[in-house]
Amino acid sequence: MSIRIQSENCIGCGRCMEVCPGNLIKKDENGKACIRRPRDCWGCTSCIKECAVNAIGFYLGIDMGGRGSVLTVEKQGHICHWQIESPEGQVRIIDVDQRDSNNY
Ligand code: SF4
Ligand code: SF4
Repeated sequence: MSIRIQSENCIGCGRCMEVCPGNLIKKDENGKACIRRPRDCWGCTSCIKECAVNAIGFYLGIDMGGRGSVLTVEKQGHICHWQIESPEGQVRIIDVDQRDSNNY
């Protein structure tokens, strides 16, 4: 279980580093985000939700029944548009209103 960071999209804002509860993300020599210890990531998704440029995805490996799909999110106000892209390129979008998050 771990995130994937697309360095080419990262603008080095540092938000993901501020919100990671395990202090797992740091800047590399180019000022881009990179994960220190991928195996320590427990998938809280905080960094994914904070990244405004969609540079972080969550890898849904076989251990999670994800067959290698990648989960990303785009926020519009209170709405999170969660996107799951399969290895074959199929895309599924699930919209979640953050105001309802305590109801799940
Ligand atoms: S998913 Fe959570 S634990 Fe994992 S790197 Fe992001 S903020 Fe840290
Ligand atoms: S929040 Fe996104 S853009 Fe900002 S440092 Fe992290 S990965 Fe890069």
